[in-house]
Amino acid sequence: MNIYLVGGAVRDRLLGLPVRERDWVVVGATPQVLIELGYRQVGRDFPVFLHPDSGEEYALARTERKAGAGHRGFEVHSDPSVTLEEDLRRRDLTVNAIAETDGGELIDPYGGQADLQTRVLRHVSEAFVEDPLRVLRVARFAAYLHHLGFEVAPDTLALMQTLSDSGELETLSAERLWSETARALDTAHPGVFLDVLGQCGAGDRLFPELRAAHKAYENLARAAAAKADVELRFAALCSGLEPAAVDALCQRLNAPRRFSELAGLWSALEQDLAAPDRLDAPGRLQVLERCDAFRRPQRFEQLLLLLALLRPGADTEFWRQALARCRSVDVAAIAATGVSGREVGARLRAEREKLLG
Ligand code: ATP
Ligand code: MG
Repeated sequence: MNIYLVGGAVRDRLLGLPVRERDWVVVGATPQVLIELGYRQVGRDFPVFLHPDSGEEYALARTERKAGAGHRGFEVHSDPSVTLEEDLRRRDLTVNAIAETDGGELIDPYGGQADLQTRVLRHVSEAFVEDPLRVLRVARFAAYLHHLGFEVAPDTLALMQTLSDSGELETLSAERLWSETARALDTAHPGVFLDVLGQCGAGDRLFPELRAAHKAYENLARAAAAKADVELRFAALCSGLEPAAVDALCQRLNAPRRFSELAGLWSALEQDLAAPDRLDAPGRLQVLERCDAFRRPQRFEQLLLLLALLRPGADTEFWRQALARCRSVDVAAIAATGVSGREVGARLRAEREKLLG
């Protein structure tokens, strides 16, 4: 049995980037052998195991044969006779298909090191077109490695176009779409992710709503340049879309609630937040209420961050002070007058409105 380091850990180390996680491939073993050594099997369809101590992923060397539609439509073949070269051949990109022995020797049958040097993201084989997830992965790697000068090879882009045209992108689960998108948004140049998807025809299929978001790219770039967190980046991406379009996009991507809520609020309230002088006192209070600013001050702060980022010159301080003033109204004192609950609410609003005029 031989164990090799593979994938992102080898790629990133050769590029001098921090290694985030390590993936291993095991050649010449069976599931039984690994289980007896204490590894835990996690793959339902694939022979993937977790190391008993490190928790890192160890996959038995395997080959794959397309047997159905989509990212999971594979017949997996794994036995001790599958070679390292065969396993590396089923991988997406040459730069992800370099293996390293524990002595530090590199095994690189598909020219990954040369492509690292010339900054090319290139498919390993024509089998690339068998898995639509690769379109998203390549676009994500293009964004992640953009600062080093990486580009997608024209032939690879052509295969990505083939995948987009095949309709297979539509078989990807929302979970997959979201996890790749969120990771891509979290890179230094997330706009490159959109660019690459656009270049191969996947953008319109995966994110049709963004066709209407004329400043999506620019807004996203601003949020990324400010090192804003992913939630803000996603809201920036959706900025300028109608709330219904934000909803549709969030549903297709299965975006977690904190993302969809922030993006939805921003799209609904951007104009009001940007121009409080055009609102009367009840209108201003309504904005605070719709943001749920009294109960969710941190999320309100996220909206103000978006305001500062995407509407330079807007008065974020106005809203901070508006919230602080409203909070200074003494609810307990109103309640102590003994009026009904409904009346307390009405008086509270009236007092707050007075302070927002
Ligand atoms: P990251 O830094 O994002 O972890 P990675 O390249 O290690 O990048 P993983 O998802 O951890 O990505 O996968 C490990 C390796 O498995 C990849 O480098 C690649 O060789 C292979 N791989 C993963 N997903 C696919 C896929 N859909 N098609 C082909 N090969 C894949
Ligand atoms: Mg990895």
